[in-house]
Amino acid sequence: DNDLILYVNYILINTGSKQRYIVKDLLGQGTFGQVAKCWVPETDNYVAVKIIKNQPAYYQQALAEVSILSMLNQKFNTDERRHIVRILDYFVYQHHLCISFELLGANLYELIKMNQFRGFPLNIVRRFSMQILHALVVIKDAGIIHCDLKPENILVASSAGPDIKVIDFGSACLEGRTVYSYIQSRHYRSPEVLLGYPYTAAIDMWSFGCIVAELFLGLPLFAGASEFDLLQRMIEILGAQPPDDLLRDAQNTNKFFKQVGGIYRLEDEVYKDVIRAYSALTAEEYEAKECKKPVIGKRYFNYVKLEDVIEKYPYRKNLPEEEVTKETLERLKLVDFLRGLVEFDPAKRWSPLQASRHPFITGEALTCPYNPPPETQQIRAIQTITVDHHNPGGGHW
Ligand code: ATP
Ligand code: MG
Ligand code: MG
Repeated sequence: DNDLILYVNYILINTGSKQRYIVKDLLGQGTFGQVAKCWVPETDNYVAVKIIKNQPAYYQQALAEVSILSMLNQKFNTDERRHIVRILDYFVYQHHLCISFELLGANLYELIKMNQFRGFPLNIVRRFSMQILHALVVIKDAGIIHCDLKPENILVASSAGPDIKVIDFGSACLEGRTVYSYIQSRHYRSPEVLLGYPYTAAIDMWSFGCIVAELFLGLPLFAGASEFDLLQRMIEILGAQPPDDLLRDAQNTNKFFKQVGGIYRLEDEVYKDVIRAYSALTAEEYEAKECKKPVIGKRYFNYVKLEDVIEKYPYRKNLPEEEVTKETLERLKLVDFLRGLVEFDPAKRWSPLQASRHPFITGEALTCPYNPPPETQQIRAIQTITVDHHNPGGGHW
């Protein structure tokens, strides 16, 4: 029978507490290894076990994942960490570090896919956004940067219906100990990481903004086929370049930009201009001589500007007229919300607490662009996040 085959082929492990984990199913794979659904006969419980590849670098990084998650477990109560995956145990099995977690359900990418990449209604987008923000408040408060927020790393809690949890702290680091420069999955990679500029917890807020947009649109907002393409899309969609001082101080600026008359211009535009100027050269000749042609992927949306992409996204069919009006207003809020998240300047980008007070989250009316309270007034205070329960837009975390 199926169990027995897996039982024989995979693992039968004794931890310190002499617990056995009997592999029942494969839940997922990632860069670090495989995640198996296991049955623990001693407690008659199901858990998820991440089996890390047997390589020193992965082993070390997985130990960091264990210590960061254990620290979050200690520092925060169950309520505070309710949108962060719970670590149960870890052990070594045949040179593989294994980490056991509470068993969760599908990830958000799978959910988006099940919905045929059409995106979710705004009330669901809001609900998920609130919950991810709740997790991010806690993560930032602990001085941690997740470094790999993406739909695949956010899972639906199997039992408690529409609740979600952030997983995969395998790339996480402490703020102030940002050792790696090649982090974040491309579509969710922040401009400062891309450009090689000192990064902070604000990189998680950029990824968060990308996820919120994707939940609504069904497809990645910045679907860059290469790093160059990614940057070009950011500039197109946001309608501006990264600020000059960021470009001046970032390490990789000259991978993407050329300075022409003191102005930073994307290499691609420069390249086109030069071809025009030296029309004797063919594009291929020029390319062979000077620069590589950037890889450009396909565009997913019919519009370029963020406002248009969101506001003109096809409305669901058969929406009653008053619902259309409501939806239109909510979309304006969503655009304003996204603007504070996918903000080029990490110093201006909102913190989790600032974002959690935005009308898109609280359900309040948006009369003018949201101007968040300064970060200094916000000491550690997850409980102080207020959601207007009288307003249908508000809700529980
Ligand atoms: P990445 O390539 O994103 O770094 P990874 O190797 O670090 O991935 P995880 O993201 O931790 O691995 O897990 C891989 C996948 O396994 C997840 O996307 C998810 O689908 C599944 N998974 C992980 N943890 C759980 C869990 N606790 N319950 C159910 N499924 C899980
Ligand atoms: Mg992952
Ligand atoms: Mg990972």
